[in-house]
Amino acid sequence: MNDDIQTILYSEQKIQAACQRLGQQLTQDYQGKKPLVICVLKGAVPFTADLIKQMDLYMDIDFIDVSSYHGGTQSSGDIQMVKDIDEDVSRRDVLLIDDIVDTGHTLAYLKELLKQRGAASVRVCMLMDKPEARQVKGMQADYVGFNVPNEFLVGYGLDYQGKYRNLPYVGILKPEIYQD
Ligand code: 5GP
Ligand code: MG
Ligand code: MG
Repeated sequence: MNDDIQTILYSEQKIQAACQRLGQQLTQDYQGKKPLVICVLKGAVPFTADLIKQMDLYMDIDFIDVSSYHGGTQSSGDIQMVKDIDEDVSRRDVLLIDDIVDTGHTLAYLKELLKQRGAASVRVCMLMDKPEARQVKGMQADYVGFNVPNEFLVGYGLDYQGKYRNLPYVGILKPEIYQD
């Protein structure tokens, strides 16, 4: 699996440092609160697991799954709910954690859903932001690990056809991998 990677962009060490920095900031910002942390499946699983260990707070954790990709490397604006959360979000301080904000369609859908359900506050923490790919104007995360170039990335949660999520770093695939 590691042989399929052309370049490592964010090493395990860099990612852990980002988790520590973000975790400290979140600990400060949510002081005295008990946020409802919502992890967006499946891409945000490794990031959520590492980030919450750096947050010195009481919290609830839940999981949501939405889909916008259709197997390839292109996003579509048509978002579908695959698995909903179990928790009631009304009057909760919600912290949404995801892997990457790309076109912004997924984030726009999730923010709207949580606001409609009466969350007291909604903040977003993204491991990565790909600003050049944005299609939904003004769609921003409140906390970002890395601003990334407009390329298709894999690893640390991000997949290509279901694979590479378990890489401990984020990288770019060799071009020949797409040709299979
Ligand atoms: P959106 O385009 O809606 O902002 O991004 C939605 C989802 O597309 C992300 O949560 C992520 O799962 C996937 N995605 C966006 N950019 C990339 C990328 O560079 N690589 C991979 N593997 N997935 C991506
Ligand atoms: Mg995703
Ligand atoms: Mg994917």
